Amino acid sequence: MKSLEERILKDGVIINNDILKVDSFLNHQIDVALARNLAKEITETFKGYGVNKILTIETSGIAFAYAVAQEMGDLPLVFAKKSKSATVGNDVYTSQVKSFTRNLVSQITVSNKYMKPSDTVLIVDDFLAEGNAAFGLLDICRQAGAKVVGVAVAIEKGFQGGRNRLEAEGLKVYSGANVKEFKDNKPVF
Ligand code: 5GP
Repeated sequence: MKSLEERILKDGVIINNDILKVDSFLNHQIDVALARNLAKEITETFKGYGVNKILTIETSGIAFAYAVAQEMGDLPLVFAKKSKSATVGNDVYTSQVKSFTRNLVSQITVSNKYMKPSDTVLIVDDFLAEGNAAFGLLDICRQAGAKVVGVAVAIEKGFQGGRNRLEAEGLKVYSGANVKEFKDNKPVF
């Protein structure tokens, strides 16, 4: 989406040549109109896929996923929690996710009350990099017997490989902006 690319060029900050900071409009302060416009494109892209649930991961995916869930017809939105193992019981699905921005592996959990074999899921997040967060969410859906049709993100960093891994699983991938590289400290689309 052109307006997202322009916003990234205007306000995005590149850190260590592999992280894009977009705190001013996506994951700290949120430009609600921009999120809604992205959500409209996502709704159009996944029309006819039978999506009845949105799944994301805390914390930074939640606000954007809320916009998508609302735009797709007030679908239920579930977010995976990054919980400590002591709180994990038999009533949750769990997976391991390597964090791209922090050098650690988190355990993520979703209650088995909120993911069922009858669910057709769209995974939504703010960013797609290597695809680890999306794979953790996919793993949880598979444990629950739910069907996943695709992954929708606001910003993809196409040079970090996530899309290929997800498409190899048969998932449709949408991104509002696809950063092909960082060149001279600027994103290239
Ligand atoms: P992946 O799991 O696909 O490698 O990375 C995606 C996750 O890491 C997202 O949940 C996102 O929060 C975080 N992430 C990855 N790259 C970036 C980035 O360049 N900027 C920000 N703000 N978050 C990122």
